[in-house]
Amino acid sequence: MANRWIRSWLDRLLPAVCLVCGDPLGSAEGRVCGLCWARARRPRHPLCPRCGIALQDTGTAGSSLTCGECREWLPYLRRARASFIMSGTAAAMVHALKYGGWKELAREMGAEMAAQSLGKGLEGEIAAVLPVPLSRTRLRERGFNQAELLAAVVAERWNRPLLRDVLVRHLHTRRQARLAPRERLANVSGAFAVRRSTDLLADAHVLLVDDVLTTAATVQECVRALCGAGARAVSVVTFARARPELPRADR
Ligand SMILES: [Zn+2]
Ligand SMILES: [Zn+2]
Repeated sequence: MANRWIRSWLDRLLPAVCLVCGDPLGSAEGRVCGLCWARARRPRHPLCPRCGIALQDTGTAGSSLTCGECREWLPYLRRARASFIMSGTAAAMVHALKYGGWKELAREMGAEMAAQSLGKGLEGEIAAVLPVPLSRTRLRERGFNQAELLAAVVAERWNRPLLRDVLVRHLHTRRQARLAPRERLANVSGAFAVRRSTDLLADAHVLLVDDVLTTAATVQECVRALCGAGARAVSVVTFARARPELPRADR
């Protein structure tokens, strides 16, 4: 907390610099310079139409429409899309928002996420936007939920209602980043619940928002809770996509 206070005080005194490379920012730039944005890696096409991963990364390029990455996903999890690969600029931004408390980054990041297409015009089906929730313990530690900040921007740009407190995380689970892929699903199993029912979920296709998607273990547990409460389908949009075997940030 003290660090954040000192930083916001210094921020007002010193010329603004890029949060990724530290170079001075131009007047038209946000918190990240144009050069760093240009260096951010996007998933390379062709993408898996369902999970949005570059098919060449899964070894299935050109062979079929389903990749190994999402074959085991719950059928209610319709689409996943990420703006960037979790490395370089994107990883630095995820860290700056989540651990550095640079909440103003959410506007730039959310705008990139809102520019995503789910494919086949599925955006038109989306009835509401929900952030992946944090447990109360984690929320107290961090002071904010980065997914909620991002979801607010996406909801505003897609002109859909934002459901902040419908989905809750009632178990305080271990940090996913330290776990092997197989351990992740067990770690978050049963961690989410729908706290209050709303007509917006009934037979609806809703959009989940998070900062990073790694194995989709967390998202699938959210899907279980949402579809158990009446939703028909769930899609997910994240700022970055991480491969489980690479260094990553997760909640
Ligand atoms: Zn920069
Ligand atoms: Zn896939």
